[in-house]
Amino acid sequence: MSLLSSNSPHSTFLKIPKTMKLHRASLLFLSTFLFSFSGHAQNTVEPSLNAEERELTSWLDSQEDNMLEMLERITNINSGSLNKQGVNELASIFSDELRQLGFAISTLPGEVIEMPSCPGSDYNVDVADHVLASKSGSGSKLLMMGHLDTVFPPDSPFQEFSREGDTMYGPGVSDMKGGLVVMLYALKALNENGSLQDKSISVLLNSDEEMGSLSSRKYLEEQAVLHDWGLVYESSGNNRLTRERKGLGQARFVVHGKASHAGGAHEQGRSAIKELAYKIVQIENITDYETGVTVNVGVVSGGEARNTIAPCAEALIDLRYPEAQQGVDAVAQFEEIFGNVYSYPVDSGELTTESWTNLHRPAKIATPESDYLLNKTIAIGRLLGQELGVGDSGGGTDGSLTQAVGLPTLDSLGSAGTGAHSNREQGRVSSLVERAKLNAVLIRRLAAE
Ligand SMILES: [Zn+2]
Repeated sequence: MSLLSSNSPHSTFLKIPKTMKLHRASLLFLSTFLFSFSGHAQNTVEPSLNAEERELTSWLDSQEDNMLEMLERITNINSGSLNKQGVNELASIFSDELRQLGFAISTLPGEVIEMPSCPGSDYNVDVADHVLASKSGSGSKLLMMGHLDTVFPPDSPFQEFSREGDTMYGPGVSDMKGGLVVMLYALKALNENGSLQDKSISVLLNSDEEMGSLSSRKYLEEQAVLHDWGLVYESSGNNRLTRERKGLGQARFVVHGKASHAGGAHEQGRSAIKELAYKIVQIENITDYETGVTVNVGVVSGGEARNTIAPCAEALIDLRYPEAQQGVDAVAQFEEIFGNVYSYPVDSGELTTESWTNLHRPAKIATPESDYLLNKTIAIGRLLGQELGVGDSGGGTDGSLTQAVGLPTLDSLGSAGTGAHSNREQGRVSSLVERAKLNAVLIRRLAAE
């Protein structure tokens, strides 16, 4: 089985947005100045809201019921990453909405991604199509991104939207169907007061983010280099924007051994489970909290019966790393471990390993441009009475992909919420309007640069 490679060929390419070239010298000066006293800048001051922006925000103040209604409707449509029908249904809802706002819609084909697996456990991934909505205009070019999929498959017990006061519950309410609604309503607000028409905006909605954007990565990277600013509508957690993120990798490996009777012919067998166990220990030992590199063997399976020496066993691995080289080094260690045989003294060729590795999210490293975007957002938040904190995260988003190819990206602009990827997922209802207001003003100001 092929070993899919890992490194984006674009990862060292830094794009300076066209419209920023004029301001770049002053921007770098400002960033250096702010960096010097606070680690990262937080003291940007933005001019107060003008009449048009007040119009945007007061229209949005009247939209909470509509936003909630839409969020309830789309949360109740299951869109687990592998549920193509549900993902397609969501894609068509958002395509219709964006078409009504003047966007041209195109479909970006999904694909089948093949992975090694034991006989009978098919891990191939069939990814639904993605949506690209675009409209041309003047000013800076904005790329807005969101994912249609969730981690909850159709047979998950967690399927329904519900609400108690200012808290809502449901699969994807904050990761990130709430964010999709925030994004759409920010655009609707701009459309409402006639200021959307002249803006150059693309919206990319992918269907496989929760599986690591294995199919949509190429589209995200292609679009990133065509735009000036990247906005991702992942949840803003407890009112916190994310500045830097670890890189992420994943691997699957399958050990093939030799079946035999556990009583009658034990010595003739080659246990895939025994070999897998040795490999797991080596792989888990790559974790180093000092350097920030962590490895998690999250799923293992294999074997056929208690009294059969296991002919096949497999494992699924998660990797996190702060710096690009650490990811490359970890993959090299994986390969060495996959390639060695630990459980039997002589390698007779009766134990073999298939593997697949992918560094699917580069580390997101802050740049002066992304700090500028972060601080502008915080400053606009203050104008609106929203106090937004800043933190780093061990989790990756599509913003890591676009930032790595040079698009300054802020990736936590969606609704507030906690408990993602669990049946405790919840969101703050009032954050829908808050974040839509924040984004409407942010989009307006960014587009004008
Ligand atoms: Zn998400």
